[in-house]
Amino acid sequence: MKHHLTAATSAVKVIQDAVMPNISEMVESKIVELEAKGSDEAFFICDVGDIVNKVSKWRELLPRVAPFYAVKCNTDETVVKTLVDLGLGFDCASKGEIAQILRHDVSPSRIIYANPCKQRSFVKYAAKHGVDLMTFDNEAELVKIKDLFPSARLVLRILPTTQVQVQCELGNKFGCHPDNVLQLLLKAQELDLNVVGISFHVGSGVEEAKAFYHAVRQARDAWELATELGFDMTLLDVGGGFPGQKSAPVTFEEIADVLNAALDLYFPEESEVEVIAEPGRYFVASAFSLTCNIIAKRSVARDVADGNAFEVGSPDGYHKQVLTKNDEPSFMYYLNDGLYGSFNSLMYDHAKVDPCVLNDSPCLFTSSVWGPTCDGLDCIMKECRLPEMEVGQWMFFPDMGAYTMCAGSTFNGMPRPACFYVCTAKLWRELRPEEEPVQEKRHCGEFPALMQAGQNAGTFGPINCCADEELVLA
Ligand code: PLP
Repeated sequence: MKHHLTAATSAVKVIQDAVMPNISEMVESKIVELEAKGSDEAFFICDVGDIVNKVSKWRELLPRVAPFYAVKCNTDETVVKTLVDLGLGFDCASKGEIAQILRHDVSPSRIIYANPCKQRSFVKYAAKHGVDLMTFDNEAELVKIKDLFPSARLVLRILPTTQVQVQCELGNKFGCHPDNVLQLLLKAQELDLNVVGISFHVGSGVEEAKAFYHAVRQARDAWELATELGFDMTLLDVGGGFPGQKSAPVTFEEIADVLNAALDLYFPEESEVEVIAEPGRYFVASAFSLTCNIIAKRSVARDVADGNAFEVGSPDGYHKQVLTKNDEPSFMYYLNDGLYGSFNSLMYDHAKVDPCVLNDSPCLFTSSVWGPTCDGLDCIMKECRLPEMEVGQWMFFPDMGAYTMCAGSTFNGMPRPACFYVCTAKLWRELRPEEEPVQEKRHCGEFPALMQAGQNAGTFGPINCCADEELVLA
C-alpha cells in the first residue's frame, strides 16, 4: 500500500507536490533503499535546487544587497560549495569557518569576520590570510585589533534599539548602543584604526519587517557621526535575520520591500555605498528535511502524555501503563535523533518542528515524540496528534536546514544522520558545466535525482549512475 506523508498537527493533511515538490517520493524511495540494506538510520535530504532558487530570489528582490552567507547556520560542504560556485560572500565567526571557506579557494575579500568578540589567535589567523574586513562593538576589541591587525578594515556593529519579535535575540549579547557610538568611534580614532562601515543584526528569524527599516535609520545616524570624525565610510552590512521557511510570520518579500525602501531613503544608490548582508537561515532552512526512525514506542494513559509525565513526583508515577476502559490510548514515540542531535535547534534556536508520518490513517491520537538518549530532557514534542505508528516506521520533519546539523552532538554514542542531496539534471548541468555529464545518458527527464554524499561531499563528484533516475555520489 502506498502511504502519503501526513502532517501531525493538522487533521491528516497530505502534502501536495506543489507545496513541497516530490519530497514525499524522495523520502519514500530513500526509505525503501535504506530498508533494503537493513538500515534504520536517520537521514537528511538536501534539495540543492531550493538553495539555488533562494539565491535567485535574493538577487531579484534585493539587487543592491550582496549576500555573505553566515556559515555558522549550516556548515555542510555541499551547501558551502554551491554558494561558492554561485559567487556569494561569506560571514565567518571563527578561524575554523574562515579556514573552511578559504579551502574552497575563495578570495579573502569575499569574507567578513563578523564576530565582534574574537579570540586573539583567530585575529592573527585572519591577518595572516588577508581576511581584513571584521566587525567590532567594544573598546577592548579595538585595542586587540590595534595590537594584532592594525590595518584591518573595521565595521562598527550597532545595537538596533527598536523592540521587535524575533525567534532568537542577539542584542542581549552584541551591538554598540547608540549612546556609546561616539565614544567608541573616538577610541578607534585615537588608535588610528580604519573604520569603514556600520553593521547591525536585527535578531535571527525576525518576525516584523519594520525591524530593518529602523535599523537602517539608526545605521545612518552612526554613519554620519563616523563621517564627521573623518572616517572614510564605504560599507553598510544589514546582517541576517531573514526567514527561511514558508511558515515564517513574515515573508522574505515583505522584508525586501521594507529594506529596499529604507536603503533608498538613507543610503540611496547615488551614494555608492556598498551594501552587504549576512543571511544564514534564509538560504538553508527549507532545503533540508530530516527523516527519523521510530526505534521504540510506549502506550500510556492520555493524561500522562498530556503532561503529567513531566511532573516530578506525580502521584500516578511517570508512566501509567494500565489503561482503564475510559482511557483513550496515547503514545510516546522514541526516534533515533533528538535534542542532543539535530533537534538541538529546539533549544538553541527556539525552533518549532512539525512532524509528518508515512501513514494516512484518519484516526489521530495524543502523542509525544522523544529523542534516543537516556535524558528526560530529550523531548522533541511534548504533545501532538498523530496516527498510531509502529516501531520501525519513520517520521519526517521539513525545514530542518538552519542551526540543526551544525550544532548536533553524538551524546550517548548516537550517530549523526547522513545527508543525501537532490538536484535536477538541468540544474546540475548549470552548476557543474565543466563536469563530464555521465548521468545524462541515463537520466529520465527532470525527475529530481537522489545523490548520496560520501567522502567527496561538496565536490559533487565523481558521479555514478545506479538507476535510471538516480545519481549517486561516490
Ligand atoms: N550574522 C551574525 C553576526 C550572526 O550572529 C548570525 C546568527 O546568529 C547571522 C549573521 C545569521 O543570522 P540568520 O541565520 O538569522 O540570518
